Amino acid sequence: MGASTVLKNYINGAWCSSSATTHLDIINPATTDVLATVPLSSASEVDQAAQAAQAAFVSWRRTPATDRIQYLFKLKTLLEEQLEALAQTITQECGKTLAESKGELRRAIENVEVACGIPILMQGYNSEDIAKGIDESMIRQPLGVTAVIAPFNFPGMIPFWFMPYAIACGNTVILKPSERVPLTMQAIVQLLEQTGLPKGVVNLVNGDKTVVDAILDHPLIRAISFVGSTPVAKYVYSRAAANGKRAQCQGGAKNPVIILPDADIDMTTRIMADSAFGCAGQRCLAASIAVTIGGARQPFTEAIADVAQSRIVGYGLNDDVQMGPVISAQSQTRIEGLIQKGADEGATVLVDGRQPRVSRYEKGYFVRPTILQNVDPTGDIARIEIFGPVLSLMHLETFEDAIALINSGQYGNMACLFTSSGAAARKFRYEAEVGNIGINIGVAAPMAFFPFSGWKDSFFGDLHGQGHQAVEFFTQTKVVVERWKDWTRQF
Ligand code: NAD
Repeated sequence: MGASTVLKNYINGAWCSSSATTHLDIINPATTDVLATVPLSSASEVDQAAQAAQAAFVSWRRTPATDRIQYLFKLKTLLEEQLEALAQTITQECGKTLAESKGELRRAIENVEVACGIPILMQGYNSEDIAKGIDESMIRQPLGVTAVIAPFNFPGMIPFWFMPYAIACGNTVILKPSERVPLTMQAIVQLLEQTGLPKGVVNLVNGDKTVVDAILDHPLIRAISFVGSTPVAKYVYSRAAANGKRAQCQGGAKNPVIILPDADIDMTTRIMADSAFGCAGQRCLAASIAVTIGGARQPFTEAIADVAQSRIVGYGLNDDVQMGPVISAQSQTRIEGLIQKGADEGATVLVDGRQPRVSRYEKGYFVRPTILQNVDPTGDIARIEIFGPVLSLMHLETFEDAIALINSGQYGNMACLFTSSGAAARKFRYEAEVGNIGINIGVAAPMAFFPFSGWKDSFFGDLHGQGHQAVEFFTQTKVVVERWKDWTRQF
């Protein structure tokens, strides 16, 4: 590995050099070493992948589901055997700590496990005698060629919200990882290859917007699963729909958390620190606003400031490190600019993580945990997704005011409540207008057998990734109404 290593695409069961004329460096955000270069592939490479995937679909859909899942069982074993090496790759290209990378891979494996249940998950239903001697049944069939477009922040997990279900249901897939972190998917597709998966069932095309646009316009591609920022999610959703494709597009977030006076402040602080600063705040489920009510204000503010100051920041491969860098120099500059914007809007920078010195990694893209206090609920900083380790504190008079603040937001990815009151929890669960709710939980990430929900500008589509909804997304229903004359005669 190094600057001279150029990644390949995987099309029709073969690793092929891209004909790209432009390449990007893949940079370790802690060390700034160049790990490899990634080709920005062309529309014609997407076409090759789509043709291969379409050809593979013919026999893959005829392969019994019980046989299809054998490849997933093998993949699970290989992922477990290679967990350490894969986690290191995630940390090297994405920056998170090794423990976070391993956690992400466990979530990926859980999706493989759930998709292994496809023989039952994919079943339809039937009714006898809907009229005299007439039966009706619903069967689920795969769609054909599907595509998965992923963001940078979970290179090992996010494609697994979709890909295992897609292939288990009998579809074929084109994967387009983020051009900033393509190494992890490269390694995972090598494992898929080792399972003996028939050629063309899963293809990998590296690239950027050109590849995405070619996917969106390709007539053979039937469905798109996208995760990334809201403007791109909206664009992908509308262009896919205009081209008659099915689409599920998960977008950005701004996740508020309410802390009531009856919350256990020690537990709340521990959980909130992990939510706001884990993965350097680059999680779509990162807590970004903490709203205290009544007497929670002072103890929570003091406790979270202590934790933020004491967080050990450094290279994620080193043992004691609790938080790694952000993804790029541009991201670091943007986050620092937003901290300043918060200050300009009247917030106090209670803990300032800008321009940190991280010994041995002075060139790395680090921002230390930052806390903005007294953030204006009507200001920009209360609405913009920072996607960095910055927690905004607000204080409101009542629980109802805090719920109203959540419901007035543009996004609807996650909201959390810390309390010891069941009644308050019930009210929150009932009234908060978001897709994922945490009660005394800071990162309400749904397990693989639940949908990864998301409302408002955090999701465009109706069927989410994971679990039953993924199975519905990757199948089309066919209804058969059947009559057989003379079936009561003597045979
Ligand atoms: P991004 O939108 O920049 O990129 C996502 C994908 O879209 C990449 O594969 C990229 O190549 C492609 N892309 C980028 N710009 C494009 C364009 N103009 N046209 C077509 N394709 C384009 O997102 P990112 O920075 O990689 O990821 C961070 C974002 O993803 C955050 O907003 C985060 O909240 C969001 N995210 C959401 C979820 C969720 O479940 N809702 C999960 C993870 C990340």
